[in-house]
Amino acid sequence: MCGIIGYIGKDLTAKSVDLGIEALKRLEYRGYDSSGFAFWNAKEKKIFSQKAVGKIASLEEKLDYGHTDHANPIILHTRWATHGGVTEKNAHPHCDCHQNIWIIHNGIIENFRQLKRQLENEGHLFTSETDTEVLAHLIEKYFVGNLEDAVRAALVHIEGTYGLAVIARDDPDKIVAARLSSPLLIGIGNDEYLLASDPSAVIARTRKVIYLDDGEVAVIGRDKFSIIREKKPQEIDWSQGDFDKGDYPHYMIKEIMEQPETLENAIKGRLIPEEGNARLGGLDLVEKKLRAVNKAYIVACGTASHAGLVGEYMFEEYAEILTKTEAASEFRYRDMLLDKHSVVIAISQSGETADTLA
Ligand code: GLU
Repeated sequence: MCGIIGYIGKDLTAKSVDLGIEALKRLEYRGYDSSGFAFWNAKEKKIFSQKAVGKIASLEEKLDYGHTDHANPIILHTRWATHGGVTEKNAHPHCDCHQNIWIIHNGIIENFRQLKRQLENEGHLFTSETDTEVLAHLIEKYFVGNLEDAVRAALVHIEGTYGLAVIARDDPDKIVAARLSSPLLIGIGNDEYLLASDPSAVIARTRKVIYLDDGEVAVIGRDKFSIIREKKPQEIDWSQGDFDKGDYPHYMIKEIMEQPETLENAIKGRLIPEEGNARLGGLDLVEKKLRAVNKAYIVACGTASHAGLVGEYMFEEYAEILTKTEAASEFRYRDMLLDKHSVVIAISQSGETADTLA
């Protein structure tokens, strides 16, 4: 899952493309393979879109500033491909047959094959290999002038996970957003709203945010927004510096150099040096159950699964429990012979790894 940004505000001439791209760059640390955006030009009454493979800098190189002066609302995305190769066509946003509905999406639409077949039979033409594109055509199918109604009608048919943002040429003064197992928040600024999949993207403009909950749909207008369930804003208590690269040239080196501090934070308050022991709060609540465990699976992807492999050795050595680390993408589709004496430990650095969540 990768990055979502949206911007809508009262000032139609706000530098929304620049600030959108700036916000997108704040999500670069999560990794991505391509990027793109679409915006409504309120003067020309048209939606413009641009996509690029690779770095956000490649997207910037393609920017046509001739149309960006009245770009509002705008949605921007960094993609980490799950379905379909890393190509410009597969980069988000995706649109419907009539270039009315434009959508960006984080997550996986599990039943996309079946939906795509149905929609193709009904005459919809697909231009990408992504699972996301079915959302655009499904929303098109239900669209009769009101975007949120169409999005809500479409989502009824979706199985899978999503954080998404949609704009429409024929209902242009809003962004409709929705989430299910993929984070999204609304940043409340001065006469403007930002939408983001990660607070680090909005912190430069506002600290007042509303986190969407699973199953919620938000309709964000130029001067008001509504969510199915009203929630109180929370204050972000991190500082800008927590998200910056600091003096490091890129995030990976920053994370490597921060390892001593990260380890220190992770074990803070958990070590009992005088006993040469550690205490992991919470585990004692399930102590009885844990003592009955004879088999452990560690489920993770990427770096987290490498951490799992280290854990595997430790579990076997110190707890004498047979342990196996399995890629989350495989675990989902295998019969792992779990019984009441098995324990599954899922690890995700971001907390959003789609396969691990599933
Ligand atoms: N499943 C979508 C795709 O492959 C979204 C991937 C993402 O979360 O970036 O395009």
